Amino acid sequence: MSQVSRVLVAGAGIGGLCAALALAKQGMKAVVLEQAEQLGEVGAGLQISPNAFKVLRQLGLESELTPFAFVPQQAVIRDYKTGEYYFRSALGSAAEARYGAPYWHLHRADLHQVLVNACVRCGVELMLNAEVSSYEENVLLNQVAVLLKDGREFVADVLVGADGLHSKVREQMLGKERPTFMGQVAWRGVIPVNDLKVNIKPDACVWAGPGRHFVSYFLRGGHYVNFVAVEERSDWQSESWREEGDVEELKRAFTGWHPEVSDLLTSATSTFLWALNGRDELPTWHKGRVVLLGDACHPMLPFMAQGAAMAIEDAYVLARCLCAYSLTDAFMHYEQVRKPRATKVQKMSKTNAGLYHMHGGLLGKMKLKALQAAGRFAPDVIQSKLDGVYGYSVLHNR
Ligand SMILES: Cc1cc2nc3c(=O)[nH]c(=O)nc-3n(C[C@H](O)[C@H](O)[C@H](O)COP(=O)(O)OP(=O)(O)OC[C@H]3O[C@@H](n4cnc5c(N)ncnc54)[C@H](O)[C@@H]3O)c2cc1C
Repeated sequence: MSQVSRVLVAGAGIGGLCAALALAKQGMKAVVLEQAEQLGEVGAGLQISPNAFKVLRQLGLESELTPFAFVPQQAVIRDYKTGEYYFRSALGSAAEARYGAPYWHLHRADLHQVLVNACVRCGVELMLNAEVSSYEENVLLNQVAVLLKDGREFVADVLVGADGLHSKVREQMLGKERPTFMGQVAWRGVIPVNDLKVNIKPDACVWAGPGRHFVSYFLRGGHYVNFVAVEERSDWQSESWREEGDVEELKRAFTGWHPEVSDLLTSATSTFLWALNGRDELPTWHKGRVVLLGDACHPMLPFMAQGAAMAIEDAYVLARCLCAYSLTDAFMHYEQVRKPRATKVQKMSKTNAGLYHMHGGLLGKMKLKALQAAGRFAPDVIQSKLDGVYGYSVLHNR
C-alpha cells in the first residue's frame, strides 16, 4: 500500500517530466525542481522505439505527439564509402505489427513541450530557477527536505533524482565521481529539408566507417533531417560537456564519405558538440527516501538510441511501484525490474561502438560482412536481439 502522497522530482528533462506525469496520474502530488530559467530543449532529434512509445501511449500522449512524428521505413547500416547495406530491419507498419507500437522519430523540443503541457494539465507543479544543491532526510517525520542553491527548501515524502548525467542527487547518495569520458564526441544538428542538395531515404540510417559513424533521419513529418556525427577522440578538454560546434571541422571530419553524407553536411549551418560520457553500473539506485532514474543512474552511449527510452521506462515503473507498495518495497521492486534492463541496454550500446567504427580494421569490416550474411541466412537471430529491446513492455513487467 502506498505511503507516498507528495514527491519532489529534481530535473525537468524527459525522464523527470515522465515521472511527474505518471505520479500525478496515480493521484500523487508531484513538484518538479528544474535549475534552468526557462523550459526548453536543444534542437535535436530522438528515436522513440516501441518500448518507450508504449509508455507515452499509456500516459495518454499519442494523439498530441502524432502531428510531430516521422515514421521511418527501415533501420539500416551502410558502408561509409560505397553505401553498401550491411543491415536492414523493417520499421514502419512492420514494426507496429511486430511490437504493437510504432517506431517514431521526434524532435526533443516537441516531446518535451507535450510532456510539459500534460504535466500542467494534471496539476504537476513546475518550478524553474530551482537548482537542487542537497537533501536531508528526517527519519522522525518520515520526510525528505530538499535545499536549493538559493536557500529555498522543499519537503516531501520522496525525492526522485532525474537530474541527468551530472546528478547532484546521485553525488550526495553515492559520493562524488565524475562520469567517464567514453572517448567519443557527437555533433548534432537539424537541417530543413528544403535546404538539402541531396535526396535522403526515409530510413533511420547509420553510416559505419573507421573511427567514426554518421546517423541521419527525418523529423517533423519529413520537413527536417536530424544528423548525429560521432568521432573517436582521446580526450575532452572543455569543462562543459556540450558546446557550440564548428561546422567546418565537422565537414572536414566526414570528407570523402558517401555523397549522401558529405552532400547533406554541405547544408549544415550550425551544430552542437557533445562529449559522450558513461558510468559503470551503480551499486544501488536508491537510499532512504531518495531514488534515481534516467541518465542520473545509467547514462549510456547513444548507439542503441535508448537513453531517453530507458528514462521513460524507469519513470513509469517507479510511479507504479510507489503507488502499489510500501516505500521500501517500492524502491526494491523498481530497482529489481529496472537495473538489469538498463544495464543490459547500456552494454549493447557500448558494443555497437566497435561495430559502427569498424574496430580492428579488416576484422571490423568482416564483422559487418558477417552481420550482412546473418541478415540473409539467419534473420531471426538478428531480429531476436532487437525484439529483446523493442518488444519489451514495462506495462506487462511487474
Ligand atoms: C548524441 C545523442 C543522441 C541521442 N539520441 C537518443 C535517441 O535517439 N533516443 C533515445 O532514447 N535517447 C537518445 N539519447 C539519450 C537521451 O538524450 C538521454 O538519455 C535522455 O535525455 C536522458 O534524460 P534524463 O531526463 O534522464 O536527463 P536529462 O535530459 O539530462 O535531464 C536532466 C534535467 O535535470 C536538470 N538538472 C540538472 N541538475 C539539476 C539540479 N541540480 N537541480 C535541478 N535541475 C537539474 C537539467 O537542467 C535537465 O533539465 C541521445 C543522447 C545523445 C548525447
